[in-house]
Amino acid sequence: MREFAFIDSLRARVRSNDGVVRGIGDDAAIVRFAPGEECVVTTDTLVAGVHFPLDAAPADIGYKTAAVNLSDLAAMGATPRFCTFALTLPSLDGGFVEPLIKGLLALLDTHQVALVGGDTTRGPMSLTLTAIGSLPAGTALGRDGARAGDVVYVSGTLGDAAAALALRGQRGDSLDGERKLARTRLQQRLARPTPRVALGQALRGIAHACIDVSDGLAADLGHICRASGLAAVLDSVALPASRALLTLVDDPGQRLALQLGGDDYELCFSVAPENEEQLAAIAAATHTALTRIGTLGPGEGVHFLDADGRIMSAPAAGYEHFR
Ligand code: ADP
Ligand code: MG
Repeated sequence: MREFAFIDSLRARVRSNDGVVRGIGDDAAIVRFAPGEECVVTTDTLVAGVHFPLDAAPADIGYKTAAVNLSDLAAMGATPRFCTFALTLPSLDGGFVEPLIKGLLALLDTHQVALVGGDTTRGPMSLTLTAIGSLPAGTALGRDGARAGDVVYVSGTLGDAAAALALRGQRGDSLDGERKLARTRLQQRLARPTPRVALGQALRGIAHACIDVSDGLAADLGHICRASGLAAVLDSVALPASRALLTLVDDPGQRLALQLGGDDYELCFSVAPENEEQLAAIAAATHTALTRIGTLGPGEGVHFLDADGRIMSAPAAGYEHFR
């Protein structure tokens, strides 16, 4: 397939929304925002072998490209609206690009995000999505708004994606039915993370600070601590684990290391204690479990308490490129 045939086919299948003035097909896209709205922009690149395994299903790669970007918008409390997609591939043939686009558009359509432009070039595979969202002016959830005395929460469960990565290559033949099912669940969480879009928006005006857990809880909450000039003390035993993780990883130390491993795309946020009671309604409305995992106070860094309430030595660090 040639570049322009590809762009034409893409143009024919993308869905628009009421903010799109001009989408794919001109030199640039035109989008509009309501008065009093701010525009929130984020870009993430996915590189084969770094952000997804070399043998990952193309539909999962497309889905994850959308998911990680929508997760960044969610962490700001923004409503995702538009995106552009820069695609570099060795070839547009060979059955790779069709499922890739399908996976990408599946998640974009779920959130009514319009693909309004991009670029298509030949080269080693790389996928870059720029996602654009909106929110009422002044309501974005930053990393720097946390206050001493805040309580720290995390959505969903931690460690599934890291566990799926750790279990890769391990043969499944020896696993019984329950464990096989659990492993499939973990693999799904790695391949198709759920961006907490509704939760992020619901936390506007309630959370003081928010971040999505991509590099690992300690690393990401560390950004909030640094930006807000605070220290976090987390209860290691309180970190939420999925049934699948509990089924497959018995050792609590191993489990904790995986829970700090990253790639979960859950939201970690801080709220004033007096706002905690509003979280039950938000959890119910967004169908997202919310777990209290610790507190913020004066100092610096992210610290963990063991089951006896004693400070642990640093359990594990998150992911960092060029380390
Ligand atoms: P230009 O030469 O002006 O960069 P292109 O020929 O690259 O234009 O692109 C034509 C149109 O197709 C533009 O609207 C561009 O945004 C869109 N487009 C190209 N590649 C993609 C892609 N991978 N995803 C979405 N839109 C794309
Ligand atoms: Mg171009």
